[in-house]
Amino acid sequence: MTKQAIYDLHTHSNASDGKLSPSELVSHAYQAGITHLALTDHDSVSGIQEAEKQSQQHGIKLISGIELSCRWLSYTIHIVGLNIDPENDSLLKHIQDLSELREDRAKRISRQLEKVGINDAYYYAKQLSGDGTITRQHFAMHIVKTGHAKTIQDVFKKYLTRNKPGYVAVDWPDIKQTINCIQQANGIAVIAHPLRYKMTNTKLKALVKEFKEKSGEGIEVASGNSNNDELNRATTLCKQFELFASTGSDFHNPDMPWTKLGKLAPIPEILTPVWANWHH
Ligand code: AMP
Ligand code: MN
Ligand code: MN
Ligand code: MN
Repeated sequence: MTKQAIYDLHTHSNASDGKLSPSELVSHAYQAGITHLALTDHDSVSGIQEAEKQSQQHGIKLISGIELSCRWLSYTIHIVGLNIDPENDSLLKHIQDLSELREDRAKRISRQLEKVGINDAYYYAKQLSGDGTITRQHFAMHIVKTGHAKTIQDVFKKYLTRNKPGYVAVDWPDIKQTINCIQQANGIAVIAHPLRYKMTNTKLKALVKEFKEKSGEGIEVASGNSNNDELNRATTLCKQFELFASTGSDFHNPDMPWTKLGKLAPIPEILTPVWANWHH
């Protein structure tokens, strides 16, 4: 009998804000019984080669992925690219542009944090991010370390979200640019965690509609800690706009028990999984 396929198509390594190295992540995924794993670091493909090597060791299928930052109206949304060619020139150019936006934002976040007594945050966040993408998560880690907040969640609430002292809006590339870049790299574009943008239903529908009109292909129906209501709402959107259904834990860190690798609600049978046409 063949092994039951278990998909997790949204995960992070320390090539962005995850804790594990790409090979550690793959080993954890293997232990969790995952047969198909997508590595989807924020605005980076730098972990894919290492993850691919380790996947071959374990005999699991690695899907090359990325989670791209994108602006829609005044929202930052995330679009996952699956089965991308990590060496594609237009993808690499897009990543370079995002990296410049991130560097610039990080320096501005740091300057704003100085004003509320948090010093040299850019320096420390940069150290924490190492060779990986610098993210707000790294600022949050530094802020907890220095005792300015108790938990990562608290940091976001107190400092790093809209109207808070360390918030900096970014003019990320738009939906069309983001989808184009994924498709030029032969990938499939998927809206990440649709229920996490704090949008009204009307707004969210407008987002999904525009995504579909601009040739986006999929939407995450099951996400790390999504509850039944969220699963139902995502299912309705997926069906209504005839998108493929994806599933991904958004795993970052084994110390966060609410986002376990591969522990995902099954995709409802009325939907077509994003892997329906994959040959592996
Ligand atoms: P960035 O892409 O640099 O804006 O960083 C976003 C990352 O920060 C997300 O991918 C999460 O890993 C993390 N994050 C965002 N909001 C929160 C939050 N409220 N609590 C904990 N982590 C968060
Ligand atoms: Mn993250
Ligand atoms: Mn995300
Ligand atoms: Mn993610």
